[in-house]
Amino acid sequence: MTQAAEIEAQKIGKKFGGFAALEDVSLTVGRGDFLTLLGPSGSGKTTFLMLLSGFEHVTSGRLLLDGADMTATPAEKRGFGMVFQGYALFPHMTVEENIAFPLKVQKRDPQTIKRRVAQMIEMTGLGGHGHKKPSALSGGQQQRVALARALAYEPSVLLLDEPFSALDKNLREQMQDEMRRIHRETGTTFVFVTHDQSEALALSSRIAIFERGRLQQLGPPREVYERPENRFVAEFLGDINILDAEFDGADARTEGRTLKLAEPTDRKSGHIAIRPEYMTVATAPLDDRNSICGRVTDMTYLGAETRLTLETPGGTPLILHVPTAALPPDAATGAELWASWKAENSFLL
Ligand code: ATP
Repeated sequence: MTQAAEIEAQKIGKKFGGFAALEDVSLTVGRGDFLTLLGPSGSGKTTFLMLLSGFEHVTSGRLLLDGADMTATPAEKRGFGMVFQGYALFPHMTVEENIAFPLKVQKRDPQTIKRRVAQMIEMTGLGGHGHKKPSALSGGQQQRVALARALAYEPSVLLLDEPFSALDKNLREQMQDEMRRIHRETGTTFVFVTHDQSEALALSSRIAIFERGRLQQLGPPREVYERPENRFVAEFLGDINILDAEFDGADARTEGRTLKLAEPTDRKSGHIAIRPEYMTVATAPLDDRNSICGRVTDMTYLGAETRLTLETPGGTPLILHVPTAALPPDAATGAELWASWKAENSFLL
């Protein structure tokens, strides 16, 4: 099994001319972690990955590999595996030759090469395709070859930049499942770039969320989704309801009502946030919960779920994702309904 490595970034800055693509980024990628760098276009994800790879160099800060300074170590000496968007397979080589290539460069003995190539073909589900040229493979199969080639020499770190962006939705989901399995089987440290929130939530052991060159939050998927530290993270990860409120201990005044917080706060004013799936909808307020009424302005049937928009008397739109089976029979555009939630499912922003 691969010896997975730990990477530490200390106060990393990267400038292109006068433009700061990254500012003051500090984080640790643990041994065997599956860390995803997530953020909108231009937020600095690829730049950060390139700094880890050694193909770009930091303007300020330090990078450590297993505690040793690698800031000035060239890419080839870091020896990380890489899978990029265009996956750049050698078109004149077969699948087996592509996978064997890095092992040949490393002058491994032919028996080891043969064994590793067979293992990689098996692991990535490419059985029966070993003698084909890349042009005879589907996009998903080519993606597997790129992955197999990057994993063949058992790198201590695997860097992946939007590897599934060219694949259709079904294939993408299938590759995500395989990626999780391969990560488990190899135990390697993975650093993965995507701008797709659901991909990040599904794959990662931890997610680092970037905005305009700054790290906004780092944590396990559930933590960043359910307890975002700021409004950017909350809104970037999915639909969210945000109410302006005045606080007095555990009481929150909003929309002419007094709601209960899970815990008292020292703040005098701020925002209460609730993810839509934690709200239920009914024709009356529910006793043991926080409730707010609103008029249905939009109702979208999505099969298992119905997406409702309620407008509160104060004019705040609330979004609810309600299991279609749990919709009140009189739910319709124009109807007045109550959205209710448990205090512990709300948080402050
Ligand atoms: P995307 O999801 O679109 O790939 P990203 O989050 O990976 O975006 P980066 O590619 O890291 O973003 O780019 C961050 C910023 O740095 C962008 O504003 C980009 O224009 C700028 N940038 C990146 N590489 C260079 C370069 N070589 N020269 C000048 N500016 C650059």
